[in-house]
Amino acid sequence: METLLEQIESGKLWQFPGGIHPPEQKSLSNQAAIGSLPLPEYLVLPLKQHIGANGQLLVNKGEHVLKGQVLTQPGTNWSLPIHAPTSGTITDIKPMPSAHPSAMPELSIVLTPDGDDTWCELETRASLDGLDNKALIDIIHHAGIAGMGGAGFPTYVKADSAKTIEYLVVNGVECEPYITADDMLMREHAKDIIRGMEVMMSILSPQYALVGIEDNKPEALAAMQQAAKHNSKILVRSIPTKYPSGGEKQLIKVLTSKEVPSGGIPADVGVLVQNVGTLFAVSEAVYEGKPLIERVVTVTGNTIHKPQNVWALLGTEVKHLVYSQGFTPVENQRVIMGGPMMGFTLPTVRIPVVKTTNCILAPDNQELAVAGQEQACIRCSACADACPQTLLPQQLQWFAKGQEYDKLEEYNLFDCIECGACSYVCPSEIPLVQYYRVAKAEIREQKLEKVKAERAKERFEARKARLEREQEERQNRHKRPARSAPAKDKAKVSEALERVKQKRPEQSAVQAAIERAKAKKAEGDTSALEPDNSAVALERAKRKEQARKYKEEKAGSDKGSAPKDAVAAAIARAKAKKAAQTADSVESQEQDPRKAAVAAAIARAKAKKSGDEPKLGSEDDPRKAAVAAAIARAKAKKAEQDPEQNSASGSDDVKTDDPRKAAVAAAIARAKAKKAAKGDEPEAAVEDDSADPRKAAVAAAIARAKAKKAAKDAEQLEEPTVDDEPEDPRKAAVAAAIARAKAKKAAKDAEQVEEPTVDDEPEDPRKAAVAAAIARAKAKKAAKDAEHVEEPTVDDEPEDPRKAAVAAAIARAKAKKAAKDAEHVEEPTVDDEPEDPRKAAVAAAIARAKAKKAAKDAEHVEEPTVDTEPEDPRKAAVAAAIARAKAKKAAKEAEQEPVVDDKTEEDVSSGSDTQTDALSPEDKRKAAIRAAVERAKAKKKAQEQEGNDLS
Ligand code: SF4
Ligand code: SF4
Repeated sequence: METLLEQIESGKLWQFPGGIHPPEQKSLSNQAAIGSLPLPEYLVLPLKQHIGANGQLLVNKGEHVLKGQVLTQPGTNWSLPIHAPTSGTITDIKPMPSAHPSAMPELSIVLTPDGDDTWCELETRASLDGLDNKALIDIIHHAGIAGMGGAGFPTYVKADSAKTIEYLVVNGVECEPYITADDMLMREHAKDIIRGMEVMMSILSPQYALVGIEDNKPEALAAMQQAAKHNSKILVRSIPTKYPSGGEKQLIKVLTSKEVPSGGIPADVGVLVQNVGTLFAVSEAVYEGKPLIERVVTVTGNTIHKPQNVWALLGTEVKHLVYSQGFTPVENQRVIMGGPMMGFTLPTVRIPVVKTTNCILAPDNQELAVAGQEQACIRCSACADACPQTLLPQQLQWFAKGQEYDKLEEYNLFDCIECGACSYVCPSEIPLVQYYRVAKAEIREQKLEKVKAERAKERFEARKARLEREQEERQNRHKRPARSAPAKDKAKVSEALERVKQKRPEQSAVQAAIERAKAKKAEGDTSALEPDNSAVALERAKRKEQARKYKEEKAGSDKGSAPKDAVAAAIARAKAKKAAQTADSVESQEQDPRKAAVAAAIARAKAKKSGDEPKLGSEDDPRKAAVAAAIARAKAKKAEQDPEQNSASGSDDVKTDDPRKAAVAAAIARAKAKKAAKGDEPEAAVEDDSADPRKAAVAAAIARAKAKKAAKDAEQLEEPTVDDEPEDPRKAAVAAAIARAKAKKAAKDAEQVEEPTVDDEPEDPRKAAVAAAIARAKAKKAAKDAEHVEEPTVDDEPEDPRKAAVAAAIARAKAKKAAKDAEHVEEPTVDDEPEDPRKAAVAAAIARAKAKKAAKDAEHVEEPTVDTEPEDPRKAAVAAAIARAKAKKAAKEAEQEPVVDDKTEEDVSSGSDTQTDALSPEDKRKAAIRAAVERAKAKKKAQEQEGNDLS
């Protein structure tokens, strides 16, 4: 069995399925040689005249170009350049109607020929020596050669095939009716075609070059065979005339029996197909150096007076072409670019000739019948029988009408070569090819959009990947430094944390201080002093507790002999007073009358002040009251003695100090002293009458507490008035210190007055010594109490100095008024003579004893008064006001009742005076010495006790 090669060499031909035999109509144009056309008025050169991308413009508007000059620079994607068909000027570069059924405008160069038709410099060669395949491909490429059979595929792409080409098939069939361009070209330029075939064979090195020419072109066949005699690799075959044997796949089948698979290309079966016109252009490019600037175009049809093949410059408008050949349009004239089977009717004759234009058919209405009304498919299958691709044209048309593009592809729409055989045979006159072309265009558009979308997606993904990569790189850059110096950063962080921790306690302390200040501010300014007062209050409470215990012990020890002791004490005091009077009389004889007057004045002032103090002392402690009364009496007596001495001596001070006033002052002092001594008698009487010691004790405790409070308030209020500067607490403290000093002095004076009473007991020295010790203890106690009473005045600073000053002024005024009233009331008592001094003295002693007993009983109840001191300043102020009112009332009551007391006191004093008068001068001197010694001891102990208290 012969091999395929042997069969090919033997000249065997194969048949393809389908096909038709339409009228050839070739004789119209193949009777005359290829003609030439006059230069057109202008040439329109679309940048894209082939399959693939257009090139970039190399010329500008107004630029003069030469014939054969390249106008565009080819790029990638099957791009081909275009050249100037003739010399002339670029008059415009703009979109112009394209050689397409839609005549869609494409960017075109409008060249106005200058008529000289001047060639540019051409590089010619006589052989292919020195040219390798690449050089040949470049020459083909830069010559702008594309398939001139109708598809327009770039020739250099086919020539640069990566696949092995066994057979180079040269298409000289030209099966389309009316078209005779290849026939005439082969007749006239067979050698050039064979030379171009040899160029391609040198590039592709096929086993054979098979030239297929229909048997209806015997002249062309002979010319080709004659031209190819020198090359045994070129086999020129005459094939049967059958439409569409000129199809690429059909010709391959006919010449080689190979079938190109669906969707494949001839190279897939080792076959490369080239048109004879393309090979002529390759020969011109390689040997003559001429680019593709013109081609043979068949201008035919019954409306063409001179149908003929002509050399038409690319860019020549169809109008110029047909009119150059004697075009006579008819009614409903149609001008078809291409043949009647595969060509398309031009929407306008202003369409330029391009590289793929092989025929311009201008038939009349009889020559080529106008398509009738489309009818419904009758399923006659004539179309399928005529299809050379063995497709189902009726199904494709059905899917195309329904725009079922997937179905179209499934039914191999793209295997359709658009031969038109189906349409040609369809009895329903269905323009099947038109449906296929539209469907193909839509599918190509969709695929193009899909490709664009895929490319956009690829760019997006690439960009996304790039951004992610850059982000990752940035993160890595940030991470790397962190890893490179972790210890350093950690050290910095730890240091910062340590600083923060160190600052926190300070901040917290500051914050706590701020909070405390705010709390204090909210509570008031006085609360800020509370921490300081707490210590003093605690110390005071301790001292009071000690005093209370001492009093309890003392009260327990003295419970049985209290009346006797009181009587003895009264007697002792009386004696002490007497002794003091004698001592004072002795001292007063030695003193200056002026000092006596000053002492009288001090006594008066103290007597005035005692308007409050006696009540305080009498209510606070009966013993104190007794001591104070004794002191007052002693001072009063002294004051009374001083005027007498002054008057007797006739000193000058008598002139300055009125004796009457001194007497009055002495009487006031006595009255106050008596009042202080007898102040508790009504209470004692009430106690005796009521026979309820508890109530009396409670009342006495309340009275003492009020009296204490009143005394404290009075002292606090009086102190600022000394300096008249209530705003300065320091001055108030100084005033309080002065008051304490005065109180101490008063206590000392009392000791000095009472001490002689110890010596004034001639009957029993032991009792007198005991009485003196008791008196000293009382004096110390009085001093201590005075300190206790006065201390709060330092700490209990008035909240409002102005109010305190006003209150103090009022208190002083009231005290003065009370003193004055007392003076006015006492004056008449000066002349009052006691009826029985002894009885009055005994009664006074009994009254004092009762007062002492009531005071002792009240001491048990007194403790709460310490604790019940009002801490609230307002309450304290109210209590002070009440106390002052009660003190005033008590003072008034005392002023109204001194008559009896004065009598008794006078009696006692007079009685004592009679006793002291009975003492001899030697005894008086000894008593005075002992009294001085006791005073010194009492002072020393008082100072020691004071130092302990202060500590
Ligand atoms: S045009 Fe297409 S479908 Fe119709 S006969 Fe030709 S190849 Fe077949
Ligand atoms: S030739 Fe026309 S009518 Fe017949 S089957 Fe094909 S499309 Fe239908």
